[in-house]
Amino acid sequence: MGRLMISPRDVKHYKKHAEPPFTRDQRDRTTVLFGGLTLNHEHLIKGALEGLGYHADYLPVPDNRALQTGKEYGNRGQCNPTYYTVGNLIRHLNALKEKGMENIEDRFVFLTAGACGPCRFGMYESEYRKSLREAGFGNFRVLTFEQSEKVEKSGANGLQANRSFYKALIKALVLGDMLNEIGYRIRPYEKNPGETDDLISRYREIFYNAFLDSAPMTSSLRGLYKRLGDIEVDYLRVKPVVQIIGEFWAQTTEGDGSYRLARWLESEGAEVKTEPVSAWIDYLLWSSAMEEKDRFAIRPVRSAGRLVGIFMLERLFKFYFNSYRRALGGWIRRLPSQHRLAEYASPYFNVRITGGEGHLEVGKHRMAFEEKKAHMVVSIKPFGCMPSTLSDGVQSKVTSDLSESVFVSIETSGDAEVNVKSRVQMKLYEAKKKAKEEFAQALRDYGMNHEALRAFNRPGGPSGPMISLPRRYAGTAANFVLYAAGRGR
Ligand code: SF4
Repeated sequence: MGRLMISPRDVKHYKKHAEPPFTRDQRDRTTVLFGGLTLNHEHLIKGALEGLGYHADYLPVPDNRALQTGKEYGNRGQCNPTYYTVGNLIRHLNALKEKGMENIEDRFVFLTAGACGPCRFGMYESEYRKSLREAGFGNFRVLTFEQSEKVEKSGANGLQANRSFYKALIKALVLGDMLNEIGYRIRPYEKNPGETDDLISRYREIFYNAFLDSAPMTSSLRGLYKRLGDIEVDYLRVKPVVQIIGEFWAQTTEGDGSYRLARWLESEGAEVKTEPVSAWIDYLLWSSAMEEKDRFAIRPVRSAGRLVGIFMLERLFKFYFNSYRRALGGWIRRLPSQHRLAEYASPYFNVRITGGEGHLEVGKHRMAFEEKKAHMVVSIKPFGCMPSTLSDGVQSKVTSDLSESVFVSIETSGDAEVNVKSRVQMKLYEAKKKAKEEFAQALRDYGMNHEALRAFNRPGGPSGPMISLPRRYAGTAANFVLYAAGRGR
């Protein structure tokens, strides 16, 4: 400063806007708002939070009007999820205001995940605050889990980010994933349209109430498993399996932010494989453990402590995932091994590069192809996503090496939906052809024909949605041939 001839008195350091705290005594009159996942996840998170004694509610699925509002109040050059999320929040708060609600800043807080980057995710929290301020909600409180953990240690925080909180959250996320998987795997084959969705919404409510009553979930899960067995399916419908990968928010959101990609693909004749939030949690734990192991040599005590914490969290998470999976007869897919994903990605992508999906997009693409998990892979990212742009650069090399892979990468910007969907349709045509060829090959491999298969597929026959199909082929119909051949012998 001396060399620059600046007096210390003239230095004005940046000070973060101090927003009013959310304290324990305000909990009874404050609603915790959140959003950004699927309906199944969000309804169950609401139940989990209410079961812990909070008032909680989720925001509607963000649409393009939310994007416009986000852009109106936000800084230029942000990635789409910021605009969609904060625009959605502002619209919700404005709607409450229009209904005549007073003291909105006192009565609501917004809970979100925070991080220090390295992509724009590190800026989300301050972007939300900036946009809220511009929209006239200068004192609206944005809470992050990380911040709440720190304040929680002082014992004054309205949001207690403690073990019970994370336990309830993990349960809600795992159950939400399982309901989503059930929907995407059974719906394309149901004989009576709407049956699967009806059952899912009934059980979403049952799980929600179980959270309120602090009741165990396993008996309800067993009930669900039994009821699912009553749905009539036709596994002989030859459909391409399309795996959706990409940036976390874009691959998860069910609204305009993804052009409603999963449901649209389903309507176009595909069986869709979406990414469970649990796989993302698994990745975060895996990459945090790797980071701590790398640091162990320079600060062993701190790293050892952190590794123990990560290990405990991982055990808790896997305990719920595995016991709920067992209650559903082991029918839910296992989570992909993070080590294997890293092995698949590492010839192309340094697995220590984090931010966004890190190496996962490349790893998942290779895994889907090499292990015949899907006929086609769609990688979706929001406009302006830095890590996914990096992955896309690498995917050009991966696709040139895997010349048989049907892969398409798309970017969602709120417009150009028709162009994007027509690109996907072109690739879907190739995937449909692949699925048909694979089915014909399976018939030849196992000496089966349609008549023999029909006997297995009739109501009351030895098939139903919950049968455990072998996994030799990518497609459900081809695996059904293998299943029927095994049963027939
Ligand atoms: S991963 Fe992409 S979309 Fe997500 S916060 Fe980072 S830059 Fe934005």
